[in-house]
Amino acid sequence: MTRIDDLPIRDELRGKSPYGAPQLTVPVRLNTNENPYPVPEPLVRRIAERVTDAARSLNRYPDREAVRLRTELAGYLTRTTGFPLDHDRVWAANGSNEIIQQLLQAFGGPGRTALGFDPTYSMHALISRGTGTRWVSGPRRPDFTVDLDVAVATIREHRPDVLFVCSPNNPTGTAVAPETVLALYEAAQEARGGAGALVVIDEAYAEFSHRPSLLPLVEGRPTLVLSRTMSKAFGAAGLRLGYLAADAAVVDAVQLVRLPYHLSAVTQATALAALEFADTLLGYVEELKSERDRVVAELRALGCDVTDSDANFVQFGVFDDAAAVWQRLLDRGVLVRDYGIAGRLRVSTGTRPENDAFLEAMRTVVKDLENDRHDRTDRNEKAEDNR
Ligand SMILES: *Cc1c(COP(=O)(O)O)cnc(C)c1O
Repeated sequence: MTRIDDLPIRDELRGKSPYGAPQLTVPVRLNTNENPYPVPEPLVRRIAERVTDAARSLNRYPDREAVRLRTELAGYLTRTTGFPLDHDRVWAANGSNEIIQQLLQAFGGPGRTALGFDPTYSMHALISRGTGTRWVSGPRRPDFTVDLDVAVATIREHRPDVLFVCSPNNPTGTAVAPETVLALYEAAQEARGGAGALVVIDEAYAEFSHRPSLLPLVEGRPTLVLSRTMSKAFGAAGLRLGYLAADAAVVDAVQLVRLPYHLSAVTQATALAALEFADTLLGYVEELKSERDRVVAELRALGCDVTDSDANFVQFGVFDDAAAVWQRLLDRGVLVRDYGIAGRLRVSTGTRPENDAFLEAMRTVVKDLENDRHDRTDRNEKAEDNR
């Protein structure tokens, strides 16, 4: 059998594994930050109508510039943030992962450097590697916030061409204050002298945040880019639609690297239908936000250390053996995410019954862990006595 490493593959890909959480079939799946609500039936019908329409002209290439879709996305951002935008400042692609890839193709690449603050969304590092961009992992404080002084020092040392600020941050849920983002932006520009640096704010979870969007920061800052997705708040992870808002020059720049007709007519039609239902979908977001806050409170009541969350998931711990807790939850039919941060796990916010099932499973697991600990202490004491 031929293995990947037998192929003349690029050296930096040797021995690597593809990104992806396990897709296991279990009753309660809370591991990939998906929106738990299925697409509402009226929207399903609207998608069918629009896709049927699009099907009639599938012999033609789609609108290469997706102008209608970008106009509607600009309208959505304007309505929800109060920051006025036209379609010339918005660009769309197949998921925000493709947005990030296009940005790195245009502004990163061989000989260039990208920097982010770990733990953060691992695709930033993976897409950097995939585009030949060197990745530098900057630190966070023990409470997972960004330490501005340390961050600025890291920026000065590595002078990144591309700086990623994920807010709210995946997997921790941590939001970054606008003053901090601006200070990072200034430091990144200064570090590269006249050349400037591209600062990408990944706002995949913006709609779930307690804080307003960072979108207004793009004004007057042509190297500041905001990236968004319909995968989370719009409950459309299967659609694959991400977008960015920035100076119009950034939109022109990514068009130098995008594949022609990258967004299919079917994708454009489906996304336009979903945008018609934005208000309904944002109603679900409100429910998820209050469920998220409930999960945070109940986990704290169980004695867990929970990171403040502005996203649709919650980071919790601290466990001696997070992998064992992950397995015990799975044994009770609940799948959460173990992403390798010592002692911590991440749970996505589900429907109320799903969150109840998770919390019930956690109560049992916490009790079992306590009993195990007591058994161990008893045994140790007996061993002491016998000595
Ligand atoms: C889920 C997620 C995305 C979304 O990626 P898509 O390609 O749009 O599905 C982007 N950034 C972060 C931080 C995420 O967690």
